[in-house]
Amino acid sequence: MPTLFEKIIARQIPGDIVYQDDRVTAFRDIHPRAPVHILIVPNKPIPTANDIEDSDEALVGHMFTVARDLAKREGIAENGYRLIINCNTHGGQEVYHLHVHLVGGAPLGPMLSR
Ligand code: AMP
Repeated sequence: MPTLFEKIIARQIPGDIVYQDDRVTAFRDIHPRAPVHILIVPNKPIPTANDIEDSDEALVGHMFTVARDLAKREGIAENGYRLIINCNTHGGQEVYHLHVHLVGGAPLGPMLSR
């Protein structure tokens, strides 16, 4: 079964895609938690951070350089932003296709609340 994000990458279902190349796709989160909330995902399905293989190092690095460039393009680089990867149930992962959340555009508060 393809994940929801695979369907967005393949443009089988709508997604607000802001960047795509042969390795990654970035699209706006459907329920934004901040003025800017973009998900950067590998085009190939890696379910969780646990499933990243050594051979994926360049791909994962590319996800971060794309996040950096999008932060600049969205005008949030200078003030700052947060990059988040949730893993499995304790991490609060909802979609099992690896993704980096790029969130910013306002003060985000403490990283975790207790
Ligand atoms: P996570 O909890 O880290 O797995 O985050 C999954 C994210 O995917 C959530 O922030 C959702 O709002 C977002 N999401 C779910 N469905 C869609 C969709 N169809 N298009 C864009 N973002 C989505």
